[in-house]
Amino acid sequence: MTNFQDTLRDDPWADFYNLDGAKTFSLTTDIDWAPDYAVEDLLSLVETAGLPLTAFATHKSSLLSRPPDWLEVGLHPDNTRPDPVYGLSRKILDLKEMYPQAVGVRAHRNFFGQNTAQLASQANLAYDASVFLWQRPWCQIHKDQYGLVRMCYNWEDGVQADMGLDWSLNHVPIQGPGLKIFNVHPIFIYLNCPNDDYRRSVVSEWKNLQDAPVSALKSKIFQGYGARSFLIDLLAHLKKAGMQAVRLDAMAAAGNIKKETK
Ligand SMILES: [Zn+2]
Repeated sequence: MTNFQDTLRDDPWADFYNLDGAKTFSLTTDIDWAPDYAVEDLLSLVETAGLPLTAFATHKSSLLSRPPDWLEVGLHPDNTRPDPVYGLSRKILDLKEMYPQAVGVRAHRNFFGQNTAQLASQANLAYDASVFLWQRPWCQIHKDQYGLVRMCYNWEDGVQADMGLDWSLNHVPIQGPGLKIFNVHPIFIYLNCPNDDYRRSVVSEWKNLQDAPVSALKSKIFQGYGARSFLIDLLAHLKKAGMQAVRLDAMAAAGNIKKETK
């Protein structure tokens, strides 16, 4: 049988595949139109943990316009709702006007395919992270036919809750080979949701989530052990295990540089 290390020897992203034990991971967040106070809560939680974060933005927010060094801002277009005039063609471009420094994209609801990959490449983005492979080991990176670096992620807060799983670290694919890209949502973390039904019941009265005033949501923060408590424990666990957190833009660039210098 071929040794996996040999098979991946020429893969410029192999350093991030945790082939010699769990060494690197990435934390991302899909903003999903969360109000600023919820985004701020997540940013300060991650900053307190001393970790870098990649945030995929859905709308204009002053919190993300001039990000600090530890924060990367990518784009989170909603391709599930094509524009009546432009279709999907301006989804990435409109967000890029708000965040001109962005180099990465993850589509809302993972709605991404060949046409959108081409649009991302034409918009000079470097990578996409839309593919979700729940709990899978062996997640890898490749460069597609448009020159876009493609990566997948394998854990998400709302999915663990939606599957009726308890808040146990055992459900997070920390061990084993492959990329470890974990994703959370500001509103889910802010409300410390015990499950996704809780989030839905709290936010259902607002069509636009940004209209939900802090006075209304603050009193709805779940007081038991929920998603926020779990995220704090997860990040502490990853740090204690000595794992290094990497931003997605840095990961995409590291492999690209390695590929070019070969
Ligand atoms: Zn989303």
